[in-house]
Amino acid sequence: MDMTPLYAVWDSLFRLVYAPHCYVCRKEIVELPGKDRLLNRFFCPECHRALIINPWPGCHFCGAYRTEGRESSRYCVHCRDEKFAFDQVVTLGMFDGLLREAIYMIKKPECVYLARALAESLYRTRLKGSSVLDVDWIVPAPMHKNRLSERGVNDADVIAQRLSDLSGIKYVDALSRTAVTALQRKLSPQQRRENVRGAFEWRWHVDKDKPPKSVLIVDDVLTTGATCNEIARMMKSIGVETVYVAVIARAVGD
Ligand SMILES: [Zn+2]
Ligand SMILES: [Zn+2]
Repeated sequence: MDMTPLYAVWDSLFRLVYAPHCYVCRKEIVELPGKDRLLNRFFCPECHRALIINPWPGCHFCGAYRTEGRESSRYCVHCRDEKFAFDQVVTLGMFDGLLREAIYMIKKPECVYLARALAESLYRTRLKGSSVLDVDWIVPAPMHKNRLSERGVNDADVIAQRLSDLSGIKYVDALSRTAVTALQRKLSPQQRRENVRGAFEWRWHVDKDKPPKSVLIVDDVLTTGATCNEIARMMKSIGVETVYVAVIARAVGD
């Protein structure tokens, strides 16, 4: 958007009463960068550059950053020999650098505003207009109630609700996590899949005889994909045809 005279007046009036600060580094934002001012209003230019790489050069299936075959293949090395129950992953970026710091921040209840801002960035840069939003439900990856009471917030839920507000797609809190599983990061990919098997349950209000045709699962980070794989497997077992995954960051597990 160009800076029209009317907008310039509005912009300076707005700044008189409210000086925007970067949601990550807290520096005052003197000038909003780029063309999409709605998208760019959350972060200072430096943080914005570090957080939002557009278009994302990752794998077309799992979102992982491609270090090999980047030019010749749409898919990464992992996707050549791994089979997932979900159909596609969309990520804002890689679980690294500033985005990794931001992910640690949004696990705290006082940083819900940042979770919402990252959700909006994900929506505006990756999801808007894409077939991944051609779904009936948006479903957050659930957190076990014990962990939720420790943490105070399930950031995946905050992100899912924001994506639902922006897209108009129905938000359904369809699952609960029944097992407190060992921390995934200490396990091998195979152990992770076994670790989460049967860890989720449908909530009472989900009518399993009338499943939606398609679902978008929302989580903060996707590492080996074990959690979202298990959720997608459950969804498909009751007849959901397509399961997409949207995350803020994609980590590649070893
Ligand atoms: Zn900043
Ligand atoms: Zn991949």
